[in-house]
This record gives sequence, structure tokens and C-alpha cells, in this order.
Amino acid sequence: MSFLTGMNERQKEAVLATEGPILVLAGAGSGKTRVLTYRIAYLIEEKGVSPYNILALTFTNKAASEMKERISRLIVDGVDDIWTGTFHSICVRILRRNIEKIGYNRSFVIFDTSDQKTLIKDCLKEKDMNEKLFDPNSMLNFIGSQKDKLISPDKYINDNYSDFRERQKGELYELYQNKLKENNALDFDDLINKTIELFRQNPDVLEYYQNKFKYVLVDEYQDTNRAQYMLIKLLAKQHENICVVGDFDQSIYKWRGADIRNILDFEEEYPNAKVIKLEQNYRSTKTILDAANSVIENNLERKDKILWTENEEGDKIKIYNGDNEHDEAYFIVNKIKSICEEDEKSLSDFALLYRTNAQSRVLEEALIKGNIPYKIVGGLKFYDRKEIKDIIAYLRVIQNPVDNISLKRIINVPKRGIGKTTLDKVEDYSIKKGESIYSIMLDAEEIPGLSQRAITNLKSFVSLIGKFIAMKEILGVKDLIENILDSIGYIKELEEENTVEARSRIENLEEFLSVAIDYEANNEESNLEDFLANISLLSDIDRVDTENGEAVTLMTLHSAKGLEFPVVFMTGMEEGLFPSARGFTDDDELEEERRLCYVGITRAKEILYMTYSSIRMLYGKTNYNAVSRFIGEVPESLIDGCNEKKKLNTATQNSSTSSKYFKGYTFENTKKEPNLNSDSENIKAGAKVSHKSWGIGTVVQVKGQGENTEITVTFPSQGIKKLMLAYAPIEVV
Ligand code: ATP
Ligand code: MG
Repeated sequence: MSFLTGMNERQKEAVLATEGPILVLAGAGSGKTRVLTYRIAYLIEEKGVSPYNILALTFTNKAASEMKERISRLIVDGVDDIWTGTFHSICVRILRRNIEKIGYNRSFVIFDTSDQKTLIKDCLKEKDMNEKLFDPNSMLNFIGSQKDKLISPDKYINDNYSDFRERQKGELYELYQNKLKENNALDFDDLINKTIELFRQNPDVLEYYQNKFKYVLVDEYQDTNRAQYMLIKLLAKQHENICVVGDFDQSIYKWRGADIRNILDFEEEYPNAKVIKLEQNYRSTKTILDAANSVIENNLERKDKILWTENEEGDKIKIYNGDNEHDEAYFIVNKIKSICEEDEKSLSDFALLYRTNAQSRVLEEALIKGNIPYKIVGGLKFYDRKEIKDIIAYLRVIQNPVDNISLKRIINVPKRGIGKTTLDKVEDYSIKKGESIYSIMLDAEEIPGLSQRAITNLKSFVSLIGKFIAMKEILGVKDLIENILDSIGYIKELEEENTVEARSRIENLEEFLSVAIDYEANNEESNLEDFLANISLLSDIDRVDTENGEAVTLMTLHSAKGLEFPVVFMTGMEEGLFPSARGFTDDDELEEERRLCYVGITRAKEILYMTYSSIRMLYGKTNYNAVSRFIGEVPESLIDGCNEKKKLNTATQNSSTSSKYFKGYTFENTKKEPNLNSDSENIKAGAKVSHKSWGIGTVVQVKGQGENTEITVTFPSQGIKKLMLAYAPIEVV
């Protein structure tokens, strides 16, 4: 039992309890994923279970391949026979073999968002339903959330029969499903729902998989949705050898339908379930763990749990306040360099985390300029993102109309009725004439074999580009970009798509405006040609290509779930960014953001930096954000201000860590008579209050009751202040 030596008593218990349902609930870094891996190895090596009988569900494909790799280090062979993957990938595998039994063809296609949109519009037309009254995107959202909850069109129609509008929506859902089927297509949600349907309608198929998967294991269980819950339940029904591991405090996907009830219901579903709590953290230093615990304690909606570590105290949490986002990024790059030198760390020991994708841009720029190789997990480098490549292609064509490659990229983006056949004809003719595609298009009538419609479309594209070329002479780069985005309807198209991905693309495009603004601010004689040359240097990946694969990792906080790194930088720790502004008015949102912060902090093994900027340009706009309340929730005794360090040479050393960067956190609770006349009922998140000396501010949080009510207020001039309501000299305005 060699691998059990690397387990504590509770972990061993979780590994050895191979038969029957088991729920492992535990905080970050306590070895949940390790338990799953060892359990699989134990089943195979010690219990003689065939790898073929094991199903392990992970949250991402990356996690699945990592798990396989870890297992392969523990067992001799057979890893490839274990089914590990995400819910979606496992379902595709099952459906490819069996979908004929529910009337689809095995070669079914998976519809993406834009396919779905076309389809729902067809359905609306066919039903004579007005797109204004039944917005296509909200209809898709409606259908998706019924699917998450496993409600069929029939059921929806029956349940809402007396409500005309709801019944119409149900019928639309029904038509949409029928049409998917006619197209032999499944949308993403269908992958899980159709697998469940397959199992329900074909007990023999279900039985086959129930027999096959004698052991089912699920990682990150807190982030499963209802349909996924049902799927696990069906699969595990026969043997009930099901092991799920999760952590309430790391539930960060409610916005995608994750349902925390799944944990609570597990114990109800399996009253004989063994529940194991792991309390020892093996990942982080005491300081990091204390910081994480202190932050998450501010959530009201949680179950208290203990998490301790035998690891050493470690360094204090380092806080850096950048003057602006560039200063912040350069601080990080310089730190990476110095830590590498002093601590013998390698680049792959570092992770840079941020709240939204667009924030990677400034960090990437600093890394490139600092010659530090990096990779982005769960996303693309900024200049590799489709929307950024598209806008750059527009600019290149405007600067240099004979750039055929760029022109071909955008000639039909967004769609303007210039399809592949048309383009082929144009290109053939341009080769024949030895001219650029653009110049050939100027006389589109002369191109052989084109329909009148094609000619019209080409002509209007040429005149659009012509308009931009003229604008280039008068407008600065930023204004030109704004004008292009506006005229071509690129952002509008994304807005209509209204998915999380589309919103992220819009944010990236807006962030591209920041690039232009920065460029214009730093180059007196700015022009498009020079701007493009600047960008080429940045997007030239070869310049900093990875030597021996060592690279710093960049990713969003969401993508970091489950991972660990010796050194972590949590960047952009600012109110409005993290927590995002939505958290100001919605307590549930704020708690989800705080869980995300807990996830971020607990990724760090040895060293944790939290950085923020006083001024930040993001999405083309300048913001003066206050420092994130999450930094304020880390006890000062665990904190070391890095800005202070910069000034230590001149200033006398001050043992207190409360640097100027924490002055926003003084409690205004001097001994005074309670001021219970403040109209406390009106003080809630979002309310405007006026403070005697700090002016007007906005309440972002109210905690506690009566005399103990504590409020958090942001003042434009002062940043964030925590105040005891009873004593603070404030009034509602
Ligand atoms: P998260 O909630 O972040 O997903 P987790 O609970 O899944 O965390 P793991 O990733 O499994 O935690 O483990 C965290 C780290 O602690 C890993 O590096 C793992 O190898 C190590 N670890 C876990 N248990 C032990 C143990 N008993 N002895 C030594 N190291 C351990
Ligand atoms: Mg894990």
C-alpha cells in the first residue's frame, strides 16, 4: 500500500472507503483532488478493479489530462482505459455510440451560439412571433435554463397552459427542439440532456453504462448544475460507488447554472453516505491560509469549517499600490525577475491572476517588454484573440489596401453577403490581372461570373474602406478605431449575441482602445502606420518564445480553480473591478466574488502579492478605483506594504504595516455617544450619504445590526471607508 503513505488519516479513510457513496467536503488545498487520484490508483492496483470500470468527471479538459498524468505516475498501466473528462466530453462519447436510439444520426453536429441564434430566429418566423416581443437572445436563455433544470417543452407547456405568453414560449422551445433534430444537431446543453433522455428511454443502454462505471468520481462537485446532478445519479444508481469532492467556498459558477443544492441533496439522496471533512491544508503557508480564512469569513452564506496547516509561517502578503496599470505591471515584472534570481525560482512557478480577460493586455505588454515568456491558460494571448486580429486587419487594410491577407480576413466580417465563391472569383481575377484584390474590386463589374448582388456588396465594402482611408487623414488612431467599430456594426453584433463570451470580446475591443489612447499619449507624432508597427512588435510571439518551456502563467481567477503555484500575483484588486461593480448592490454577487477571491488566494503556495492601481485605464476609460475591500479583509498583521519599501531609504522605518495604502481602513469608532438618530433604515447598499469631512459617498455594504451596524462607503476623494454607523458623522442625502 505504498501510495497510502502520502495520505493523512482522513484522506486514507476517503481512499479506502471504496464501496458506497462518499462526500468529501473540504477547503482549498486539503487534498481533495489528490484523494480522487489516489483512490483511482488504489482501486486499480489494490482492489484489482479494471480501469475500464472507472469514470472520473473533472471541470475542465486540462484538469482531466492532469489527473490522468498524476494517476499514471502511481499505477503501472491502463490509464488510457479510465474514462476521465468533463461532463460534456463524456456525454459526447456516450452519444456518438448510442444516439440513434433516440432518433438522431451518429454523425450529429454540435451547434454553437451563432448557429443557435439563426435557428431560434427561424423558429420565431415560422411561429409568426415578433422578435421585438420575444427577443431571440432571451428566448435562447429561457430555453437554456429550462434545459439546466431538465424541464421538457411538453412539461413547460402543460405547467403554463393557462398563461398564453408562457405557453407560446413553451411551443417555441418545442419547435426549436424539433428543428435541432431535423438538422441532426445538438446544442451544448443538449449534450447532457440528450444523454439523460437516452438513458431514460433505453434502460438497456443505461444498464450497460451502470455496469461499466462501477466507480464514479466527481471533482469540483460544488459547481455542477441540476442536469449534471441527475446524470451522475442515473449512472451511479446500480452500484452507488460514487465519490464526490467539493468546497462550498469555491462555488464560483452560479452564473452558469451551478447549483449548490447538489451538495445538500447528496446527503439526502444517499442517507448512508459517508461524509469526510479534510481540515489540513498542504498547499499554502500559514500566512496565506490565514489571509484566505479571514477573507471568506466575511461571507454570511457559508458553513463554518476549519482549515489549518503545518506548513511554515511564510512571508507576509505583499501589497503594492501602482500609480497606474503600467506601474503595477512593471512592478510585477521586476518582482518576477528578482524573485527568480534570489529564490532560485523558475518562470513556471509564477501565476498572474485577474478578474476579466481584457486585463491581461497590460500585463502581457510588460512581460513582452521585459522579455519574459508567458502563456495564458484557458484563453488566448491578447493579440491572438479573434476580435483583436479582426480590428487590426481592418487597420492594416486601411493603411495598406494591397494587404490581401488582411483584406480576406475581414471582407465578410461582420457578414455582409460576400461568400467564399464570390471571393474565389475575385481572387482568381486579381491573380490573372496581377493586381491586388482591393484594386480589382474598385471595378467590380468587370470581374467575370459575379451576380448583381455580389457586385453591389463588393462595391459597398470598397466604399466603406474608402471612407475609412479618408478618415485616417483627419482622425487620430483612437477615434478612427472607434469609428470603424461603430460603422461596421461589430460590437452591435456581439451585443446581440449577449453571451458571456461575446461580452468578453466586447471588453477586449474596448481594451484595444486603451492601447490606442496609450499610444497617442506617448507619441506626439502619432499615425496609423507607426501605431501598427508598434503593435506588430508586441504581437510578434517569436520574440519571447519559450526557451525550455519555462513560462509565467496568466489567467482569469475562474480558470485558476484547482491549480497551485509557488508565487501568485492577484492583480487589479480594486473596487468595481474585483469585486465587480455588480457586487455593490447585490449581496449574492458580492459573496460569489468573495469566493472567487478565496480561490485566488488559495492558489498560492509560498508567496502572495496583491496589487492595485490608483488610476487605471481599462476599456478605453480612465478609472479612479478605490482599493478592493478584499484587501481590507486581510488582517493588517499579515500584510507587508511594498510601496513603503520603496521609500524606506528616506523615511524612518515604521514597524507598523499600515502604510498610506491602508489609510482607507481606519475605523471611525472613537468613543462618542451612539448616534442612533442616523436614519439607519435608509442606509443600505447603493444609498448616497454625506460625511462631515469627506463629502458625498456611496454605501457599498451594510453589516451587523443596531449599535453594531458597520457600513462600508466609497468616497470619491478618500476611497473606501469602513464606519460604525452609530458613531459616524453621516447623513443620508
Ligand atoms: P482545491 O480545493 O484548490 O482544488 P484540493 O483540495 O483539491 O485543492 P489538492 O490539489 O489535491 O487539493 O492538494 C493540494 C496540494 O497538497 C497538492 O500539492 C497535493 O499534492 C498536496 N497534498 C495533499 N495531501 C497531501 C498529503 N497528505 N501529504 C503531502 N502533500 C499533500
Ligand atoms: Mg482540487
